Amino acid sequence: MTDFHYDIDADGIATITWDVPDKSMNVLNLEGTAELDALVDKALGDENVVGVVITSGKADFAGGMDLNVISKMAEMAGDDPARGLFDGIMNFHRITRKIERAGMDAKNKGGKPIAAALPGTALGIGFEIPLACHRIFAADNPKAKIGLPEILVGIFPGAGGTTRLSRKMDMMSAAPILMEGKLSDPTKAKRLGLVDEVVPADELLSAAKAWVKSATDADIVKPWDVKGFKMPGGAPYHPAGFMTYVGASAMIHGKTKGVYPAAKAMLSAIYEGAQVPFDTAIRIEARWFTNVLMNPSSSAMINTLFTHKTALEKGAVRPAGIKDMKVRKLGVMGAGMMGAGIAFVSARVGIEVVLLDRDQEAANKGLATIQGLLDQGVKRKKITPEKSTEIISHVSATADYADLQGCDLIVEAVFEDPAIKATVTKAAEAQLSEDAIFATNTSTLPITELAKASRDDSRYIGIHFFSPVHLMNLVEIIKGEKTGDEAVAKALDFVRQIKKTPIVVNDARFFYANRCILPYVNEGIRMLDEGVEPAMVDNVAKLMGMPVGPLQLADEVSIDLSMKIMKATQNAMGDAYPYSAADDIVEKMFNDDRMGRKNNKGFYDYDEKGKRTGIWEGLRSQWPVADEQPDITEVKHRLAMAQVLEAVRSFEEGVLEDIREGDVGAILGWGFQPWSGGPFSWLDMIGAEHAVAICDDLTAKFGERFTTPALLRELADSGETFYGKFGPKAKDAA
Ligand code: NAD
Repeated sequence: MTDFHYDIDADGIATITWDVPDKSMNVLNLEGTAELDALVDKALGDENVVGVVITSGKADFAGGMDLNVISKMAEMAGDDPARGLFDGIMNFHRITRKIERAGMDAKNKGGKPIAAALPGTALGIGFEIPLACHRIFAADNPKAKIGLPEILVGIFPGAGGTTRLSRKMDMMSAAPILMEGKLSDPTKAKRLGLVDEVVPADELLSAAKAWVKSATDADIVKPWDVKGFKMPGGAPYHPAGFMTYVGASAMIHGKTKGVYPAAKAMLSAIYEGAQVPFDTAIRIEARWFTNVLMNPSSSAMINTLFTHKTALEKGAVRPAGIKDMKVRKLGVMGAGMMGAGIAFVSARVGIEVVLLDRDQEAANKGLATIQGLLDQGVKRKKITPEKSTEIISHVSATADYADLQGCDLIVEAVFEDPAIKATVTKAAEAQLSEDAIFATNTSTLPITELAKASRDDSRYIGIHFFSPVHLMNLVEIIKGEKTGDEAVAKALDFVRQIKKTPIVVNDARFFYANRCILPYVNEGIRMLDEGVEPAMVDNVAKLMGMPVGPLQLADEVSIDLSMKIMKATQNAMGDAYPYSAADDIVEKMFNDDRMGRKNNKGFYDYDEKGKRTGIWEGLRSQWPVADEQPDITEVKHRLAMAQVLEAVRSFEEGVLEDIREGDVGAILGWGFQPWSGGPFSWLDMIGAEHAVAICDDLTAKFGERFTTPALLRELADSGETFYGKFGPKAKDAA
């Protein structure tokens, strides 16, 4: 199998075309790397070749590196994986550097011009190769995404992208691209200086070739290969550079709280590299990249946020043997906050949506919410006015159940009241054909119970979105006791259609995500009663890598909703309800009308614009702060274990069927410390034995809620890991 093709035209221009067989997107693996290497040699060594264009045979240039390459390089090196990684990385540097130098002598003469011609998306190493070329042409393809998203999966551009980009533009301009993984369409990429020219798609190759033909020696020398090169924006010891690097260092620490090794390592590579010649700089980059790859956080993030997330999106848990069940016409019942959001994300991908509410006025309100989201998109130039008109045209707002005729899926998002849900389920089903699937977006009511209102509980399912629907990518699919495979397949196909990430769980109180997040919030709140300084609670949570501390989260969710959930749970559980100080605190806040962000007063104070101004002073008078404060590690352990133990119990009880879903769901659903790869990856990282020790300690001090689950203890006793025992490889082998 060849991933790259080679031909020479009548003008002596060699074209290296990347076209991985049987894949819709090019990705680089080790075999492809060797092929590219050989073809570059061939072109540079052939005296009949005057220059080279590197392009793609597909609509896009490349999606990046096949991330399995990383583990392969480490494995191939046996007991010295760091050496294997470093050597493997240096091999990429050797090839890109060969492209960049293109046969030039020490005086920068005699090289062959090499242009990159990008028909579409070019990401990761798929953009680092072009960065090594002498000129980058991009087709004016508005769908194309160009950039270096590595940081989003816990690594950084380690095939020269970091060193080249920080020499191509000043740090301030490079920061969003390198440090935040911001992607650009070709027009923006040109404006930022990422690509040199944007040309009509059908002129891409000819434009690149014309440039190759006319390029002079001076055109192909990179600035950093010219004597006297100065870092744009200033090197670290230049006054301007000094300011930049000091600022960048603080900014990165502020953003990552020190828990993401990649951002810091990337900045170190840039900072240290900026003080030495290019060839030394890329060696330094390779060292830092090896360092990051050897950190368990990077493999955990790659596994969860790339490998496992992609597998779930592609249907890893879809029931086998069921035909494609894509949605053609969707009915959304309840045009409130959630219903409007669900209608919006569905219409956005072209699904015809009927948005139904109690009366026309309420339905129109939902339509207006969608229009508002679209207007915002137009204002921020995320979509064109034409696209906005097209999207809204897919939605019809109504109060007439007859309009639901022809819908093949219904998602119900009316009030959280079983009686109302039962009524609307019956009324809707009277209009639907028998093969339609009915889904509820309930966040607290058992699916199995709600399904009783349906004429066919095998076609009834939970499709649980998170708020705000258009921003939250996780969708929790919940199987009731009788839910059948077709309903699961339909829900999964729908989630894929709207480009979100699904997890499938079984029916149990609060399903998965809310089950784990509620104890986190409670744990934080009950600390107030113990006299823990409130700022410590939320700040420690952030130091763990949680996006929002428990007290802030309680405010965001709103105290009245917490109160409602609390009361409903108390009613449902009766004597088994585990009362705690958190219940009293929530009740007190509720009685004092401190509802959180929604009324501008909660655990935090807010200004009239709704901006948080600080912890509410009254907290410290209501729940006095103790003289002696707990150890930070202990607070971290409590806040982490409150969530993680629920995840383990969910798996133990069969609510979760696949630990990958537990990890992906945790990061996407409630932002569980992403650096850890999720609760199960985190437990594997610290080791079951250590986790058990933490739990035993917390149980002795704080009570039964931290009791070690039997499964975790078993793993500790047998020296196993979650992924070793229950991961996809173990499953396949079973
Ligand atoms: P909401 O109050 O904003 O909207 C509910 C809508 O349902 C209102 O427009 C109301 O007019 C309509 N409605 C009520 N009775 C109806 C009837 N008989 N027929 C037709 N329409 C009717 O509530 P929401 O926050 O959008 O929540 C809706 C559902 O989504 C609930 O089941 C809730 O548990 C669930 N949910 C909410 C969130 C959240 O964060 N708000 C998250 C996940 C799931």
